[in-house]
Amino acid sequence: MAYAEQNLPSLGDSEREELSPLMERKLGEQVMRDIRRDRDYLDDPVVLEYLNNFGASLVAARPEARGEAGYDFFFFAVRDPTLNAFALPGGFIGVHSALVLAAQNESELASVLAHEIGHVAQRHIARMLGRQRQDSLIPLAAVVLAALASRSSPDATSALLLGGQGMAVQRQLNFSRDAEREADRVGLQILDDAGFDTSGMIAFFGRMQNATRSYSDMAPAYLRSHPLTTERMADIEARIRDQRYKQHVDSLDFHLIRARLRVLQNPTAQGMRDAAAVFENQLQQKGRTQIAAAKYGLAFIALRQGATDKAQTLLQESSAAAPGSSEKLQNPVLTGLSIDIKLAANRPVEALKEADAARAKFPLSRGIAHQYADALVATGRYDEAVRYLRDQAQLYRHEPELQERLAKAYAAQGKQALQHIALAEYYAISGSLPAAIDQLGIARRAPDATFYDQTVIDARERELQASWKEEMKDSQARR
Ligand SMILES: [Zn+2]
Repeated sequence: MAYAEQNLPSLGDSEREELSPLMERKLGEQVMRDIRRDRDYLDDPVVLEYLNNFGASLVAARPEARGEAGYDFFFFAVRDPTLNAFALPGGFIGVHSALVLAAQNESELASVLAHEIGHVAQRHIARMLGRQRQDSLIPLAAVVLAALASRSSPDATSALLLGGQGMAVQRQLNFSRDAEREADRVGLQILDDAGFDTSGMIAFFGRMQNATRSYSDMAPAYLRSHPLTTERMADIEARIRDQRYKQHVDSLDFHLIRARLRVLQNPTAQGMRDAAAVFENQLQQKGRTQIAAAKYGLAFIALRQGATDKAQTLLQESSAAAPGSSEKLQNPVLTGLSIDIKLAANRPVEALKEADAARAKFPLSRGIAHQYADALVATGRYDEAVRYLRDQAQLYRHEPELQERLAKAYAAQGKQALQHIALAEYYAISGSLPAAIDQLGIARRAPDATFYDQTVIDARERELQASWKEEMKDSQARR
């Protein structure tokens, strides 16, 4: 993946040995802004919701990992055929799509994420970046971006970003052997405390090591950034011996999400055919979970191809195959796809009815909340949509998706000033302050802008201008 280098501030402070948690978070947010714009960033609400619920259950086992600032971790996936995961400054943890697909159970996935949480908890990144000297002339965010870009193709991308400095930078961001062992130790504790099978770590790391031997192109990415020595494996094994074996029952969601990722990782026609072939093969297996996941994957493909009737039938078959009748009723992933199918099939009334029932059943699901708003708009109930989205935006101030939908609902009502105020908030939350300020200008000139709207716009514009000035100062003062 290539990340554009633009306006990257250097947060390096030569006096400091380690970045403060607040600085670390700020740096992570800057890097995330670029990653979110990358076409390989998997901006899929269902995958993001699963990863974040799953990741949060791991972080809960070690709340102090959130630093003095108490920030929330954010987990995300990128389209990438190599096996890897990486931690950015400030608790942003990315995982490659291929790694999620290679994990055979939740304990294996958890072992990789817990290891990355270990790096954050032990402040490995903050310490490493804190040691970067300002006279190295490389802005910090660029260092992180270059290291990320070099994950898949170390020679091409980082050289592109930083000229000849690319490889040196990449070595700087590799953790020391001690740091790797420490992340393993903390990761294992997290796994154990969160109720996962700790032998998942050995199984998964071992399989990656074997894959390195047999398919040299596929596996080494993770091992290159987290060198796995015999010593490290022996260390993990010794620690596991002292721990009691825990049976972890995988959620149905884990298997559904993997099916979804298999479709999303390659959205070309050939990618769909390959994914469908894997699902057809999976249907030959005996396990009900496997069959439910395969049918879900085929239903998702059908929806993406516009075959909504076929998608509906396949989804019903998936639901019927899913083990345990209570689980079927309690599954937001299956319900979410059902609502999407109805919205795509232009059956908004049914979609609304289903979304309304689902939001009562899954009050914490952000995906379902967004779908409910979509269904209100689709049925033309704009007043209700606006009321609902405004309430939601009060509760979830950092969700750009809410402001985006709010703008759509206002547009449907023909309210131009309010539409552009909502768009301004959408850009402000997404970190594009100049675009946000532009939208406020458009809102001010809108023919329906009332005196009250003008006052709101003026006040908000002063705030955003001040933040923008601050951001520019940050990036220039330290150059
Ligand atoms: Zn590591």
